[in-house]
Order: sequence, then C-alpha cells, then structure tokens
Amino acid sequence: YQGLAGRSTNEILQLYAAHDQLMKLQRSSVVTQLHGAIKKRLKQDLKSLHSFALELSKDFQRQSKTCLYQVLAAVQGIQLQNEAMQMFQIKAFDLEQSLQEVTERYEKEKQKRKALHNSLIELRGNIRVHCRIRPLLPFDDAAGLSVSQDRQRSFSEKAAYAADDETVLVKCSRPGHASVNKTFQFERVYNDLESQDVVFADVAPLLTSLLDGYNVCIMAYGQTGSGKTYTMLGPQSEGNLAFSIDEESELGIIPRATQEVFRLISEKPPGSCWVEVSVVEVYNNEIFDLLAKDSCGKVFGVKRDVITTREGRSNVPLLTHETVENASEILHLVNKGLQLRVTHPTLVHAHSSRSHLVVTLTITTVVFGDNFGTLWENEQTSQRLNKEASCTLRQKMKESKSTSSSRASSPEQLEATEKMKQVKTRLQLVDLAGSECVGMSGVSGAALRETSFINRSLSALADVLGAIAEQRAHIPYRNSKLTHLLQDSLGGDAKLLVMLCISPGQKHLTESMQSLGFGTRARQVQRGQVKKKISQCRVKES
Ligand code: ADP
Ligand code: MG
Repeated sequence: YQGLAGRSTNEILQLYAAHDQLMKLQRSSVVTQLHGAIKKRLKQDLKSLHSFALELSKDFQRQSKTCLYQVLAAVQGIQLQNEAMQMFQIKAFDLEQSLQEVTERYEKEKQKRKALHNSLIELRGNIRVHCRIRPLLPFDDAAGLSVSQDRQRSFSEKAAYAADDETVLVKCSRPGHASVNKTFQFERVYNDLESQDVVFADVAPLLTSLLDGYNVCIMAYGQTGSGKTYTMLGPQSEGNLAFSIDEESELGIIPRATQEVFRLISEKPPGSCWVEVSVVEVYNNEIFDLLAKDSCGKVFGVKRDVITTREGRSNVPLLTHETVENASEILHLVNKGLQLRVTHPTLVHAHSSRSHLVVTLTITTVVFGDNFGTLWENEQTSQRLNKEASCTLRQKMKESKSTSSSRASSPEQLEATEKMKQVKTRLQLVDLAGSECVGMSGVSGAALRETSFINRSLSALADVLGAIAEQRAHIPYRNSKLTHLLQDSLGGDAKLLVMLCISPGQKHLTESMQSLGFGTRARQVQRGQVKKKISQCRVKES
C-alpha cells in the first residue's frame, strides 16, 4: 500500500486488475494440480478395485467349483450307498426268506421228530413226562416283602427256567461256589406263562385214546406248593377247598378232561358209552372212598381196602362208582369228595393237600364185533340198533342177566346183540400229595406223621418205577396203598403221563432237583407197548 501512495487512480486500478489476474492464474494452477492428483488417485483406486474384484470372482469360481465337486462326490456317494442299501435289502430279504424256510423246515422236522418220538413212546410203553414250572408267587418269599420289591428280589432268586419247550434249565448255586447249570429233557416243558389251556391241549389226545380203548392215567407230581392241584383242578378259593368253576380259563385238567370225555362220547352212537366215577383219597396209607354215603345219604369218607384179583389186577371192593350223565355231575361229585379231603396248613402253603387224590372215570363202551376201532362199522346196522336197542342196551349190558333172545325183537337184532361186547376203559386222574423237606415246612406231631407217610408212599412209587425199569420179576406194588391202587396204570396197562410240577425259587432247589430226578427216571421206564382193551364180557355169555 505504501507503493500505491502517490499513484493515480487509474494506475491503482490497473495494479489491482493485474493482481487479480495473478491470483486467478495461481488458483487455477492449484486446481489443475489438485484435479490431476485426484484423478490419478481415482485411477489407482479403480485399478486396485478392479483387480480385487477380479481376484474375488476368480476365488468365487474356484470355491464354487470345489463345492460343485464336493456335491457331485456326495451325490455319487449317496447313489453308491443307495445301491449298496438296495443290495443289502435284497440280501436281507433273501436271508429272511431262507430263515423262514429253515424255520418252517425246522418246525416240520420237529413235528416229525415229535411224532416219531411219540410212536417210540407208544412202542416202548414209556411214561410220558411233562414238566410245568409255575410263576414266582408272593408266598415264595417268607420275609413278606411287597410284591414289587419281592419281584425284584425273587427274580434274581429264580433257579428253574424253561429253556425251551422240551428243556428245563436249573441254576444250582451254592455260597462260595460258582453256579452250575443243569438241564433236564422232557416230552414237554411249560414255562411260567403257559396257560391251563395250553397244558390241556397236550393232554387232550390221550383222552381220544381213552375212547379208542386204552386206559389212561395222568398224575401230578411235585413238592407242596408247586402247582399240582392248580394243574389238576384249577385255583382253589380261600374258604372252599374244592375248585370253583367260575373262571373257565383257569380250570385244570380234571374238569376239562371230564368235559372232553363227554364231548367225545357225544360223537358216538347214543347209548353206546356210559361213564361211572369214583373219588378216592390215600391218606396216611389208608384208602378212603370219598363218594360213600351213610344211611341218610350224606357223603362221608369210608375206609376201603385194595386187593389184587386172581387176574393180577388191583381192585377196591365196595368202592362207590356213581353213574354220571354229564361233566357237571362229575364235577359236583368231585367237589363233594374234595370237601372231605384231608388238608393241613403247613408253612409252605396254607392249603397244601396232605393226601393223594385219585379221581377215576370208568367208561363202558359197547363194541359191535371184535374190533374196538370198527365200532358200529355198518352205518345202517348202527342206525337201526340205535333206534331199537340203544335205550335198553345200557340196562341190558349192565344187568347182564337176561338172555338176549328174550329181549331181541328180530333175528337181525338178536345176531347183532350176540356180537356186542362190553369194553371198560379207565381214566385215572391223580393229584399226589407233595413231598417236602420236614425242616422247611415246619411240621411236627400228626402233621409230621402225615409227611412221613407221604414221603414213604412217594418213595414206594419211585421204587415201583425203578423195579419196572429194571424189569425185575417182583414189582413191589404192595409196599404202599398208593402204588397198589395205581398198580394197573403203573404196570403198563395204561398210557401214563406224569405232570411234574416245579417251584422256580432258589430256596426250592433241593425239592425241584428231586422232582426233576424222579421225572427223568420215570421217562426211562420202558413197559412194553400199551394194549387196547378187548372185550371183558359178552352179553349172551353173562
Ligand atoms: P400243590 O398242589 O402242588 O401243593 P397248588 O396247586 O396248591 O400246589 O399251588 C400253590 C399255589 O400256587 C396256589 O395258590 C396256586 O393257585 C398257585 N399256582 C400254582 N401254579 C400256578 C400257575 N401255573 N399259575 C398261577 N398260579 C399258580
Ligand atoms: Mg395240592
């Protein structure tokens, strides 16, 4: 500004314009420089962005390729796995089919083997032995634990199992010793879940034999509380010692067998069969007739004796035989007899029977001709005879007094009556008293005496079977009333089935082993082929 002093206005204005011009020039060159720098920088950024994007896209391509390969490999893997799976499925299907075939073949072979075994049994006159293992029950545990606690504990205490339907497995364990497994084979083994129905289904064929002319005896053997009475009769209600018939599915062999016998009889011509029943108890080596009536008609047990007849057969003179028309009449009589059956509560089980019970059904069949199997062979004769004679037949045969000629109305009927024969077959159903270790059942006095009689009669039974097995000349039937009474059935005159009853508990091991031993020995007895019953009396001759 000092330089401006003294200058003219014009000059000052020119100086200002020149100054402005200079400033503008300076500013525009800075802007240009700045612009250039920005442009350069932008270019660089764009370039690096471009190369980054390029890199990214390449990377993306690489990664997607890798992924694609992986997906393809996975798909291929899945396809392979699918194929393998299909192969496996086909193989599994084939295996399943062949397993089914093998199982079917095995079942068929098993049936064949059973049939052959049965024929062998028939030929040899073997005693059939079935073994039933009852479930563990609350009274098995003396400590009185609750059922759920008990189940837990008792399960581990179970010693006898059905390994399969022919094998019993017993785990014998003693403190301080390793447990040893023992197996026993029988014709049939029932596990604790098998019902009365199943047990009876195996017994039923024997009843068909009964009507075909064979004697049959079914006997339950086992320690007290092992289920003999349950198997033979069914469950017994508390106050009533007889069986109740409320629960059909729970019925035992005796009620079912009587029903089956009458069902089979209903298939025969009317009047050609009739049934008599006797109920006998063997208590302290004495025989009691449980159907004998006093003078007022009241049933009471009368002591009877057993004798051997001249033909070498056992017989109980004066034994009451009631003629019955249907199964319920039998059950009524058996029930009456059971009310008299002597029982004594032992610690093992409150209703243990202390006597052997023998229910006998005697079936008398009228046979036309010589062959039992061709009974009423000729349908026409059968029908005519049914009409003309069936009502009087039974009476006539029973009385066996009058000659047939006096009653026969036609020559044909006379001839037919002459050819008639009477065949008696017998079904003995035996509920044996249990043998028990004295220390265990806690009995004394009279009960101890009972126990010793029971044990003696059961060892007499084992002795008789032993003597038959060894084919000794003398069989000691008369050592006990029980064996004397059952002589004909034991000695080969009957198809004999022993139903071994087993308590599964560890604490019953000794008794169970004893019973299994008895069953094993009984199975080995060969008595020779059981014969069909042939005529015992001819109507005309008698
Ligand atoms: P035993 O006649 O051998 O002395 P029981 O037949 O009286 O023995 O049976 C003893 C108890 O066990 C009874 O209460 C009976 O109901 C029960 N019992 C036996 N066997 C079976 C079974 N298979 N299923 C259910 N309960 C059974
Ligand atoms: Mg009993």
